[in-house]
Amino acid sequence: MELARAAFTIKSRTLRRRSGRFFDELLLNERLPRERLLALQASRAAGIARFAATSTAYYAETFAEHGVDLTRLEDPAQWQRIPVLERATVKDRNRGFVSSESTRRTARVAKTGGSSGEPLRLQQDARVPTLAHAWRMYRWWGVEPWDHLARVGRWGFGIVDNLKTAVTWWPSKQIYLDAQLFDGSTMGAFHRAIVRTRPALIEGYVGAMLEFADFLEAEGLTIPTPRAVATTAAPLTENARRRLEAVYGTPVYDEYRGSEINWMAAECGERNGLHVFADTRRIEILGPDGRPVPAGTVGDIVVTDLLNRVFPMIRYRVGDRGRIVERECPCGVTLPMIAQPEGRTTDIVRLPSGRMINHGLMAMFADHPEAVRVFQIVQSADYSLRIRVVRGDDPRGEQHIASAVAKVRMRIDDEVPIALEYVDRLPHTGGKTKYLISEVAAPAHDA
Ligand SMILES: [Zn+2]
Repeated sequence: MELARAAFTIKSRTLRRRSGRFFDELLLNERLPRERLLALQASRAAGIARFAATSTAYYAETFAEHGVDLTRLEDPAQWQRIPVLERATVKDRNRGFVSSESTRRTARVAKTGGSSGEPLRLQQDARVPTLAHAWRMYRWWGVEPWDHLARVGRWGFGIVDNLKTAVTWWPSKQIYLDAQLFDGSTMGAFHRAIVRTRPALIEGYVGAMLEFADFLEAEGLTIPTPRAVATTAAPLTENARRRLEAVYGTPVYDEYRGSEINWMAAECGERNGLHVFADTRRIEILGPDGRPVPAGTVGDIVVTDLLNRVFPMIRYRVGDRGRIVERECPCGVTLPMIAQPEGRTTDIVRLPSGRMINHGLMAMFADHPEAVRVFQIVQSADYSLRIRVVRGDDPRGEQHIASAVAKVRMRIDDEVPIALEYVDRLPHTGGKTKYLISEVAAPAHDA
């Protein structure tokens, strides 16, 4: 890898100087004393909000309407006057978010997809060398920017441009597989490519990584052990992590990113919470009343992109849930931490009584990770639940599974029947894991 490292170093000092400088800055920021980091974040947040207020129609109107004082935005109380931005608003008022700095050169159109309705069009700031966020977390896993990588996902949306940028970092080799095209022959080709290039990192959707693990096992194939496996696009349950670590023989790390605002947080070597990229994103966790919740309490994740000046995204509700972890990480990175996002806010089991259950269900088998490989909860239109389980290797697995299901029955006070269904594999979903499939119609007000 010496050639690749040298090429990277030269490029990051010359052609790619902006990326190189940005990367250096991220490496410095992640070790700043906490107060200095938060001061940097507050000043960047105030800066992007002031900019948005003077250069976009939407924020100019909204801030005026809510009496936001632009001179005091470093103050948390003032910051919280900015209304939370909903996906529907970005969709309806789309042009209103485009700033006066947006040009063909500075803006890159991104379209976010699928899982929660119609695609959303927005713009990313092409001047931000955002890929350096990925290098930051790769380094936490012992993977360097010049190492070979393999990736599985859906590449139809905005992310593809970032990846094209990545290809220009040759001579590092990068292999891609579209998770939607997963079948025996594409997985076979992907396997051969991995054997040939020996990537240091395999990164992909949780579901896709699980499907590929099943494929390797079924075909009796092995791969050269990568230094790290990273998953994204769905929360990594303890069961899934154990399964992946067993098959790939290497630590599995969780990363948190979205298509509206790409890299936001990632696990470090400790694999015990995700460090928020607090120097470039502000993540807030809000309760049902819209106020920040105390550390440890689960709430809605609301994110501000501190760097996007072409289509500012300020206090955007991404649709995921999480909680703040108040802890100093032994790894030495001072970036604050959140716990693994616990699923889309729409991943909710609704009961006939009107009760809603989300928090904790996805961890129902966490006490016995060897008992369950993967599972999925299916709620039919009549509210009844089916829990599909792919058995793990634990000889007493079925006993543990039965007792975990009994606990859920108690938790929902037997309001609806729960059936347990053992399956060999979960239905193919193009690698996009769905922990919950619900056929219950959501009440109109929160649709
Ligand atoms: Zn850490």
